Amino acid sequence: MTPKIAEFLRVQQPATPCLVLDVDRMEANYRAINHALPLARIYYAVKANPARPILERLVKLGSSFDAAGFEEIAACIAAGAAPAVISYGNTVKKASAIRAAHQAGVSMFAFDSAEELEKLAEHAPGARVYCRIMVTNEGADWPLSRKFGTTIAMARDLMLRAGDMGLDPFGLSFHVGSQQTSTASYEAAIGQVGMLFTDLKDAGVNVRMVNLGGGFPIRYRDEVPGIDDFGVAIMHAMTECFGNALPEMVIEPGRSMVGNAGLVSAEVVLVSRRDAADPVRWVYLDIGRFGGLAETEGESIKYQITTPHDGGETGPVALAGPTCDGADILYEKSNYRMPLALKSGDLVQIRSTGAYVTTYASQGFNGFAPLSEHYI
Ligand SMILES: *Cc1c(COP(=O)(O)O)cnc(C)c1O
Repeated sequence: MTPKIAEFLRVQQPATPCLVLDVDRMEANYRAINHALPLARIYYAVKANPARPILERLVKLGSSFDAAGFEEIAACIAAGAAPAVISYGNTVKKASAIRAAHQAGVSMFAFDSAEELEKLAEHAPGARVYCRIMVTNEGADWPLSRKFGTTIAMARDLMLRAGDMGLDPFGLSFHVGSQQTSTASYEAAIGQVGMLFTDLKDAGVNVRMVNLGGGFPIRYRDEVPGIDDFGVAIMHAMTECFGNALPEMVIEPGRSMVGNAGLVSAEVVLVSRRDAADPVRWVYLDIGRFGGLAETEGESIKYQITTPHDGGETGPVALAGPTCDGADILYEKSNYRMPLALKSGDLVQIRSTGAYVTTYASQGFNGFAPLSEHYI
């Protein structure tokens, strides 16, 4: 927790649950990522947290933006971003959204299929396009890849066709999966993409960009390698592949830009025991799976939760949200422990919830309002 967040909570603890995010901490993350990979251009993955204060600060810092849909593109432009620094990175786009983005001045688009390439040729003629390659997501706590990307052979074919269709076959991309804790996953992906890149160049395609996606992890309950470790591994692999003829490099950090800049302040609603002899207490918070903590699905993301009683004796707990839905359980199998002194009314903090929380909150499920947000 940053001093600014601590002070904000001390002075004006808002009603819970609420997210409090320190925009200066986000700026520090931007600088650290830029420092670790100075040759890569940063396209912030807007979907991680599209809040206006974040976008505005990133515009000031000179960031570029990776948008998942036209609404995110509009939000970036409204925050002051030039359309030229926005990439439409979703490989699944409606024709109407492609047209709107093209008309707004966006000129860089992702694709991973023949039909999408045809849509781009028709609705964004002349655009720079890049093809997403399917790579292993092993080592990622929140994998993405079976849904996106194509094979090396298919990518080769599509990139060869892109030029004939009036598009600019600009580059290749991959995503190693979100909260990726292994630096080796980037090295392996760069190796695959590097071979295809060289092959395309030999075939006369004017390919000149490699997009390494996002995926950089942050510390939740468990320790992870730092951004500098990823920077070293990535530059090593890039140099192995391309020597000193490095292509333009793009990275699309989302989680690692905003995740640890925010926390959720929440209230304990109930501590119960199913049976007097059962050592496991059930702790119900006023935020759960439907209040924004969607990445607890499969207990994938294990948030660190602090309480006012930390340091005292602990016992095992299961954690759940406040709704009348059986799926609204956060953790049952991940061996969470909490102080025995914990009781209803206590305020807890769910750390590093600046990414992939606010926008996942449901609209009034069980009558609960979406998570409130405070950017300071
Ligand atoms: C979600 C996404 C990102 C951001 O991933 P993080 O793991 O949050 O860094 C980057 N690029 C694309 C294409 C994405 O879909």
